[in-house]
Amino acid sequence: MTESPSIFTRIVDREIPADIVFESDDVIAFRDIAPKAPVHILVVPKTAEYANVTELAAGDPALLATIVSVAQNLADEYAGGEYRLIFNTGQAAGQTVFHVHAHVLGGGLEEGTLAQ
Ligand code: 5GP
Repeated sequence: MTESPSIFTRIVDREIPADIVFESDDVIAFRDIAPKAPVHILVVPKTAEYANVTELAAGDPALLATIVSVAQNLADEYAGGEYRLIFNTGQAAGQTVFHVHAHVLGGGLEEGTLAQ
C-alpha cells in the first residue's frame, strides 16, 4: 500500500499554495495557516522520511542542524532574532502532521510561558 503524500509534501510539490518564506534543496519554510503568534513559520525538511524530531535526530542529525539554522535566520529576518522552536512529537503532544516540522514562533510572546 502506498501512503498518500503528507500535506507538507504537497506544499513542496506546489499542489497546495502556501506563503513560502524560504526554500533550499533540503528545506522549505512557510507561514502556518493558523498562526499562534505574530510570527509563526513552519520549517520542514523536503524529505517525508522522518515523522518526528526524534527520528530526524537519529537518521539525519545534519538535516536537524540545518532546520535550526534556518529557524534562526528566519527569526533574524522576521522576529528580531529571538524565537521559540517547537517540535510537537506525538498525537498527545498536539502533533497533527507526521512529517517532521519545526514551529518558529516569535514577536510578542509572553515571558515565562511555555504553552502558545
Ligand atoms: P503540528 O500540530 O503537527 O505540530 O503542526 C501542524 C501545523 O501545520 C499546524 O500548526 C497547522 O496549522 C499547520 N497546517 C496544517 N495544514 C496546513 C496547510 O495546508 N498550510 C499551512 N501553511 N499550514 C498548515
